Amino acid sequence: MPESSSNSPSEEQRLPGGPPAFLRVDTQYAEWGKQHPDLVYSSLPDSVQGVMDNPRHVGPGPVPPGGAPPAMPGPDETMQEILKGMSQSWEDIRPYFTESGQTLFEPIPGLWDDLNLYVNEKWDDVRIGFTELPQKMIFRGKFTLFPYALVVIQEMKKDKVDLAPGLSAQQEVRRVYAGLGLVVNDIARWLRQHGVRCQSNHPMGGLVNTPSLAAKAGLGWQGRSGILVTPEFGPRVRLAPVFIEHKVFEFTDNLDHQWIEKHCETCRKCEKECPGQAIYTEKVINVDGVPGVGAIRTCIDVTKCLGPFRQTMGCMVCIKVCPFSQDDNAYTRLKAAVDNK
Ligand code: SF4
Ligand code: SF4
Repeated sequence: MPESSSNSPSEEQRLPGGPPAFLRVDTQYAEWGKQHPDLVYSSLPDSVQGVMDNPRHVGPGPVPPGGAPPAMPGPDETMQEILKGMSQSWEDIRPYFTESGQTLFEPIPGLWDDLNLYVNEKWDDVRIGFTELPQKMIFRGKFTLFPYALVVIQEMKKDKVDLAPGLSAQQEVRRVYAGLGLVVNDIARWLRQHGVRCQSNHPMGGLVNTPSLAAKAGLGWQGRSGILVTPEFGPRVRLAPVFIEHKVFEFTDNLDHQWIEKHCETCRKCEKECPGQAIYTEKVINVDGVPGVGAIRTCIDVTKCLGPFRQTMGCMVCIKVCPFSQDDNAYTRLKAAVDNK
């Protein structure tokens, strides 16, 4: 890819004394993309999905209507880890801004198996899938450097989620946000060491609709509340992608978990227990014809969720009460019940 501009001002000139490093690089990334629309993979001009349409995205970035959630009391080392991970993910792609064009695709035999071995040996609470990123899943005004995605999910521990709403559950959310940010950076570096150009995207650095993307990659299916429900961890997961230049792996796309939608039709537990009555009985389709998942639906009324979300440091009641969160056999048991109907 061509150099962005040798005459461009330094970071300090652009943002004197200003925001943290990850925001400075984020700003450079956005500016570079505007200057090189032919080299990036952008949202569609008529995209209706925004990153802040979901209050669960509460990372650094635009403040949602009504203000940001309250700060967590006490020392917050995980926030430092989150900022470190975001900063690193942006710094790692900086060289791409000055490289020219696309590279040629050269298949790497056995790479998927090697990656799975690497991931499984390092983290027992992480799962991966690989898919093509539909442009319709990119948030309004955002872009990625590459059109394929390794989707990474990490478990939030049940004993902590069970304490939602409150501090313990929110600490678990932040622990996994911080940890997963480092996981995707680590995987991206491993891929680069194997000759694969890629871009890790921190779980709080929203560029794309990750629950839909993970569903497309066959890692689960979106439940009534819009959260990804997975076979191993139910909805107790956080998600982050690594965007990849070429189709270096076979896609893991499948519809094995689509039946979850059927279970949700009769369950509605999250809807009934939601303290803000924010979960729609009838979902609203806002993007149709999305490859792999059909439609992207609006599942919650953001304005109603934000109240409890702010008051309880992240709420998570909808995740806690979901039957898929209850035990290790929940997926198998609930599937058998749906199959036998
Ligand atoms: S249960 Fe809480 S987090 Fe979930 S939609 Fe309702 S208010 Fe929002
Ligand atoms: S609580 Fe019930 S309706 Fe809601 S996502 Fe979980 S299974 Fe679906």
